[in-house]
Amino acid sequence: MSSTSVVSPSFGDLALLPAVLSAVESLGYETPSPIQAQTIPALLEGRDMLGQAQTGTGKTAAFALPLLSRLDLTRREPQVLVLAPTRELAQQVAVSFSRYGQKLSGLEVATLCGGQEYREQLGALKRGAQVVVGTPGRVIDHLDRGSLKLDGLSALVLDEADEMLRMGFIDDVKRVVADTPKEAQRVFFSATLPTEIERIVNRYLVDPVKVAIESRTTTGENIEQRLVRVDGGAKLEALSRILEVEPVDAAIVFVRTRAACTTLVEQLTARGVNAAGLSGDLDQSLRERTIQRLKRGKVDVLIATDVAARGLDVPRVSHVINYDLPQDSEAYTHRIGRTGRAGRSGIAITFAGFREGRKVGWMEQATGQKMAEMPLPDESAIRAHRDDVFHQRVIASLTKGADEQRALVERLVAEGYDPVELACAFAALARADEAPIGRLQAPRKERAPRDGGKPAGRRERGGAPSEGMIRYRVSVGHKDGVKPGQLVGALANEGGIEGARIGRIDIRNAFSVVELPSGLPSSILAKMARARVAGRPLEISEDSAPERAPRRRRDDGDAPVRRRERA
Ligand code: ADP
Ligand code: MG
Repeated sequence: MSSTSVVSPSFGDLALLPAVLSAVESLGYETPSPIQAQTIPALLEGRDMLGQAQTGTGKTAAFALPLLSRLDLTRREPQVLVLAPTRELAQQVAVSFSRYGQKLSGLEVATLCGGQEYREQLGALKRGAQVVVGTPGRVIDHLDRGSLKLDGLSALVLDEADEMLRMGFIDDVKRVVADTPKEAQRVFFSATLPTEIERIVNRYLVDPVKVAIESRTTTGENIEQRLVRVDGGAKLEALSRILEVEPVDAAIVFVRTRAACTTLVEQLTARGVNAAGLSGDLDQSLRERTIQRLKRGKVDVLIATDVAARGLDVPRVSHVINYDLPQDSEAYTHRIGRTGRAGRSGIAITFAGFREGRKVGWMEQATGQKMAEMPLPDESAIRAHRDDVFHQRVIASLTKGADEQRALVERLVAEGYDPVELACAFAALARADEAPIGRLQAPRKERAPRDGGKPAGRRERGGAPSEGMIRYRVSVGHKDGVKPGQLVGALANEGGIEGARIGRIDIRNAFSVVELPSGLPSSILAKMARARVAGRPLEISEDSAPERAPRRRRDDGDAPVRRRERA
């Protein structure tokens, strides 16, 4: 199916120096971004260039890779000079040059920024730095002192040219451009093109190649971007709640790895969600079939990795959920572009941990839109939502009529039961298989007694299993010298579930009792049962210890394995 295959060249097609190519591959870049694909060939030829693309589209590598490929490392003098508007940007660019050039022996990169010691800068220049990155003020300073010479320069780059002019560096920039040897390549990169830049380009660039990449905000405008603050252990419950409450037609949930994809499909399926996975684990024909099932509504939630979902075009996708954060801003814009297709609107919800503010910053930059922080639906919101869904079902059923129930109801009324009381009883019966609402906080801290101490004490404290959990018995205990950590490790690894989802562990003498999320598929339990700890298989089985029964709540809230109803 053509919609899943977007043809783009590979870095290998770009005639980069092998050492540069290998650095790029070791950094995990898979394919050149559009600005890279379109500018690198001309830059390798030594052409002047005006490149325009939004922030976060990979402009640094677009000029760094070809310019590094053209260096003469035996010549120990400045060959590439990059001007950047701020110290932070200059440092970033310098670091990028070092990373992309990590396999070029003899490469020296000098950073010339204000607010920093001259000594180090002079040292790098003296050692014969071939690449110099700096802010205009300090660069001119070095030119004036004579410590920086541009006679041997083969390329001058103006990065973030628009920002540079906005910050009032126009005269400095003109001066440096004028000081550059005539035959040097001149390269401007900018996110926008104010007329001032056009003017400098026309004046100083010779027959420049102009490349402009359409900004992605056109996709962004019909996509509402939201942010949910949630940390690892609570993400599954957060996702379940969102999928339940949001008006999802179809959703794509992005995870980072194939393994995470498999796990999440199993976890969601166990919770009654109609989910399927799309990752590199599937061959092409299986991927196509999965996408067809999503299109036809046979699957509603697709768990995908970035690579597998590239170019995916399914109009009914109403939501994209970034369960794991994207690697970079390009991946972010690509992911959220899977919704809002065919002129519809879409919703993108990104999970970010409480300490991941910086990444949120670059995602917002990438689309030029702020993400609205969205509170997670709490229990009362979920109950209210379920009431609404049930309310609609009742109304629908009223209009359809349910005359076959009339005799029964009239009999109950004749027996003297109050009609409202009766209706409540019917509603409770009809809703008995609604899933229990899970906890957002994994019960990490209270996992297990360190000293293996007094099991009786623990039992008194927690007579009923934690919410959303079921107790299982495993056949190793104190007599086998087992420690809680070993059990968590074995159950999590064998079962492929997050350690944080394993609840309390109570180690007794001959066996132990562990809490696991309710609704685990039997395939996972079977895998866990085969795990060996302290030389013995765990032989996991549901714990039928009598202490649970008397505590069972009237509302059946701790009922086992309930499938969620699809609204
Ligand atoms: P820009 O200058 O356009 O704002 P950057 O050059 O700072 O963008 O790149 C943004 C991010 O994208 C960086 O984290 C960079 O490592 C990453 N990146 C650049 N090119 C690629 C690529 N081809 N594949 C994957 N990631 C890339
Ligand atoms: Mg940049």
